[in-house]
Amino acid sequence: MLSKLPTVVIGAGPVGLAAAAHLNAYNQRFLILEKGGNAGSNILEWGHVQLFSPWEFNIDESAKKLLHQTDWNEPDAQKLPTGEELVTEYLKPLANLPQIKENLVYNAEVLTITKKNIDKMKSASREELPFVLYVLINNTVEKIEARAVIDATGTWNNPNPPFADGVWRTDGLNKKLHTHIPDFSKAEELFKNKHVAVIGSGHSALNSLNDLNELKDKYPATNISWIVRKQHAQEAFGGEKNDELAARGKLGSTTHQLVDNGQINVHSNFYVEEINEHDGSFEIQSSEGFTISEVDEIIVNTGARPDFSFLNEMRLDVSPIVESTKELAPLIDPNLHSCGTVRPHGEKELRQSEKGFYIVGVKSYGRAPTFLMTTGYEQVRSISAYLSGDYEEAKKVKLKLPETGVCQVNPSPRQLPLSGSESKGGCRSKRNSC
Ligand SMILES: Cc1cc2nc3c(=O)[nH]c(=O)nc-3n(C[C@H](O)[C@H](O)[C@H](O)COP(=O)(O)OP(=O)(O)OC[C@H]3O[C@@H](n4cnc5c(N)ncnc54)[C@H](O)[C@@H]3O)c2cc1C
Repeated sequence: MLSKLPTVVIGAGPVGLAAAAHLNAYNQRFLILEKGGNAGSNILEWGHVQLFSPWEFNIDESAKKLLHQTDWNEPDAQKLPTGEELVTEYLKPLANLPQIKENLVYNAEVLTITKKNIDKMKSASREELPFVLYVLINNTVEKIEARAVIDATGTWNNPNPPFADGVWRTDGLNKKLHTHIPDFSKAEELFKNKHVAVIGSGHSALNSLNDLNELKDKYPATNISWIVRKQHAQEAFGGEKNDELAARGKLGSTTHQLVDNGQINVHSNFYVEEINEHDGSFEIQSSEGFTISEVDEIIVNTGARPDFSFLNEMRLDVSPIVESTKELAPLIDPNLHSCGTVRPHGEKELRQSEKGFYIVGVKSYGRAPTFLMTTGYEQVRSISAYLSGDYEEAKKVKLKLPETGVCQVNPSPRQLPLSGSESKGGCRSKRNSC
């Protein structure tokens, strides 16, 4: 009975679609449920951003085999696509293949997942019972049964707050902040000649800073403040020339130059405690009592976190720190190492207490940064093999990841000189604008 049910894949992003391609290769029944109206819905929201991984790392092998059976033009392996190109040149053609399309439902939002007729507390026969997904389709909630569930829903819709304590305030401030990388070519009027603060130190923050600096070249009165919790901004630059992904390294190097040339005011070791609005401008306060005032726009690029709200009835093994699976946590916890490169992994590391349920893709990393699509493709290759009974294939590791060029175990605060316009904190006086 269970074996006749499909494996349900939640999310038609790159990793969800790759899971479908692998299950298809094993002749397994599958159904993809996608909240949005398109494949790659989340990616389309940052479609203007250029990826730092070239095409050779962005296409899943099983998906490629399927696409090569059609007249699909494989993109140049060395080129860097934008988010939009990733969707139009790869994800859409993949989702439109008959093998995938007839098993994909758009505008289908998974609201919750449980086991048939039992709740989380009941253990007897649990593994033999189907999963039941409550899915909102065309304003109606439908129940869909599955033999296994692969959650590839990403983290995009759950951005981290700017505040160091990790809590979003309930005062409506979130609507006034930019939580993504703005498309400055479309939002010039909003940002030109303004004082813009960027909070965060990951690749999205570096992207925002570089794009903002291009705007500053055109409108020199644009003033850029960069707020980081790190002791020194240098820690955010990554491996630079040593990074095996050249474009990722370059993002660090160009930001390094901007800081050294004083084009960006850096406030390191700055833990944001409050943001207040006065007469249309913001004042950002740190827990140490420093203040950055007269800020017109705030870009919050502090990463994202997984949404577990629809998984309440699932028995999860989640790291209390990183919110990834427990096995994966020591490999990606930034408190333990700074490598950024995570050894490839598969079904075993992603196994949950709920047999047959997996969290994959960027959500599998929990709150940890530096996820690469190619890691997700390896995850779902292994899980699909396991679900199809090919345990040998599931155990194999078939991926070599490009190194970031930085790897430090047990990172401790580094004694680096301050860079360019870097200052500790901001201004002590609330009246000072800096
Ligand atoms: C600006 C930016 C640049 C990046 N650059 C790179 C890069 O260069 N290289 C790289 O490898 N990675 C990059 N990444 C990381 C990249 O986002 C991921 O590698 C990739 O998008 C993860 O794919 P995913 O399938 O796990 O999740 P997503 O792409 O987020 O897909 C999740 C899908 O699930 C759907 N969904 C969500 N909730 C539900 C629900 N309840 N029910 C049904 N469907 C749902 C969403 O609509 C979405 O379509 C970048 C990320 C960002 C934000």
